[in-house]
Amino acid sequence: MVYDDKASLVDRVVCVDYGARGVVSKLYQAAYTVVGRPLCKTAAQVLEKLISAGGSVLLATGFRVLRFGGRYETDGVISSTVLASILSREFNADVGVVVDSGFGQIFKSLADEGGLKRLKILELPPGDMTRQNIFKRFVEELNPSISIAVERPAANFKGVYHNSRGQDISSLHSKIDQLLKELRDDGVPLIAVGDGGNEVGMAVVREAVEEYVPYGRVCVCGCGGGIASSTACDYPVIASVSDLGVYGILALLTDGSKMLPPPSLLEKIFDRALEMGCVDAVYGPGYRGVDGVDVYSIQSVIKTIQSVIKSTITTASRKPPPPKN
Ligand SMILES: [Zn+2]
Repeated sequence: MVYDDKASLVDRVVCVDYGARGVVSKLYQAAYTVVGRPLCKTAAQVLEKLISAGGSVLLATGFRVLRFGGRYETDGVISSTVLASILSREFNADVGVVVDSGFGQIFKSLADEGGLKRLKILELPPGDMTRQNIFKRFVEELNPSISIAVERPAANFKGVYHNSRGQDISSLHSKIDQLLKELRDDGVPLIAVGDGGNEVGMAVVREAVEEYVPYGRVCVCGCGGGIASSTACDYPVIASVSDLGVYGILALLTDGSKMLPPPSLLEKIFDRALEMGCVDAVYGPGYRGVDGVDVYSIQSVIKTIQSVIKSTITTASRKPPPPKN
């Protein structure tokens, strides 16, 4: 693996194991083997190419936390808000977000906080495929060139959705993973950001999930499978916390150092997300963080990413030495 250019360094910064879960390096290596290039940069390039040509974007996120009453965790929701705002403001892209029933208001509120005026929001009920037509109409209207899933639960090969503790969370979530898969089958490429292997897109690293992630091969719900996702993607992004993967992608868009949220805005979005009922998946309600990593640490990581982007490190375009007179 090469770590001596900006794209590789950004991957490396977002894959530092801030939460000490012990799996990110294994998942990253597996994904890198599939993609063969730095992950955030690869996703950023395809995203930028499609939206620069006028394409719109379908976002899917939202992971409900069983032990905190099925509330949405902050991871995924926060960075998707930032991502939607940047795509809309800097690229004039139409963005639609699909979430579970009852959670659209969170995005409406967060979009306001992020200065996002146009955000199409679709809510889908848990476990119900009969309302697919709603999704089809939404997609027809949005006409996305690309889908992006961030920390969005996906079913295993048995059709059961799991959290990282191996518990069944199927009754809490709509089958957005299946809808994204159908969309992908219809030719809409999928960027997927994950950190645990049970999310949309992570089937591309399924073997590593089964081998290294707790409950990867065998869950606790008795379904006969593990938590490993059965939904693949075209452009996987692995990070120690999914939100960091999104910031890595944003940093590698053109002029990426401007694409990342200033500290004050990030704090506002966190505050609003907590007001709207989002919870940190580790420390629960009221904690300003994602996956147990507090907002100030997230800001530090963003700052580090910005430093990498502003640095003069380069390999691919390294200039030849000046000629000797
Ligand atoms: Zn199970």
